[in-house]
Amino acid sequence: MALQDFPRYPLTFGPSPVHPLQRLSEHLGGARIWAKREDCNSGLAFGGNKTRKLEYIVPDVLAQGADTLVSIGGYQSNHTRQVAAVAARLGLKAVLVQEKWVDWPDVVNDRVGNIQLSRIMGADVRLDPSGFGVGFKDSWRRALEDVREAGGVPYGIPAGASDHKLGGLGFANWADEVAVQEQELGVFFDTIVVCSVTGSTHAGMIAGFAGQDRPRRVIGIDASARITETREQVERIARNTAELIGLDRELRDDEITVLEGWAGDYYGIPVESTLEAMRLTGRLEGVIIDPVYEGKSMAGLIDLVSSSEIPKDSNVLYAHLGGQPAVNAYSALFTG
Ligand SMILES: *Cc1c(COP(=O)(O)O)cnc(C)c1O
Repeated sequence: MALQDFPRYPLTFGPSPVHPLQRLSEHLGGARIWAKREDCNSGLAFGGNKTRKLEYIVPDVLAQGADTLVSIGGYQSNHTRQVAAVAARLGLKAVLVQEKWVDWPDVVNDRVGNIQLSRIMGADVRLDPSGFGVGFKDSWRRALEDVREAGGVPYGIPAGASDHKLGGLGFANWADEVAVQEQELGVFFDTIVVCSVTGSTHAGMIAGFAGQDRPRRVIGIDASARITETREQVERIARNTAELIGLDRELRDDEITVLEGWAGDYYGIPVESTLEAMRLTGRLEGVIIDPVYEGKSMAGLIDLVSSSEIPKDSNVLYAHLGGQPAVNAYSALFTG
């Protein structure tokens, strides 16, 4: 099968915008940097990268006759907020297990931002004190069981919509979309920079770009602070997705690049380079990035461009994957 053979339920406005980050490029004095904006890809609760993944999962939800989406994430999960929005859009229920993935002391951490939006959209939000992990959890199984016992038909969507057979398709499609936009803009992005945690965003891109003619670097920046697990997850999903969309060769190891060095010690806790990246992007471009994901991948981009690890003649495409609602739960960071 090819990617076009998989049903896709449109949840986005269409191709997400691509534009240059001119002042940031000048400031860094190196490669030309552009952004592709998943943070404004949809009218559903501010969109984001999970909305794209869900476009390929929703047909399966509907085919199975489910009436309740069940998913899991941290208190400030962007993913569960997007699941809540998609459930609302489809007229389904949502049960969201929200775990204490981040030991972050902000007093409104479980009330503002993403979790507030999910509650506004009518999701059944269940706080759980368990720690960070992208695997399948007991709390999640219990949520599925509760739906069944109440006579409903649950559809489980794992953390980040990654550990799902179809989880990589949304960003394989993104790769095709980039190729079309490059034609329109008359530019070739030799380097893509993307944040990676549960892995299927980066993995889908790898699989999608692997089927194109011109080679390019797709650099994942780890934001989980668990590099071994992130690499394994990206590799597994990239290979599965490549096979699923009929890539007629094995992915090479050098096509799978996840870099560490910008996550700090913990998922969800920003470090100085994260805050610097947030300030720089905000002040030079008026573009908002978050302290959990995009602040860390942008910190990586800034260092790689500044050090000419990404060469000066490169055209770099920064995948802005969304996540701004979480900024509200980090109020203590920007008080001066
Ligand atoms: C989920 C998320 C990521 C990471 O994507 P994965 O597919 O989980 O690797 C990055 N940025 C934002 C804003 C996210 O919500």
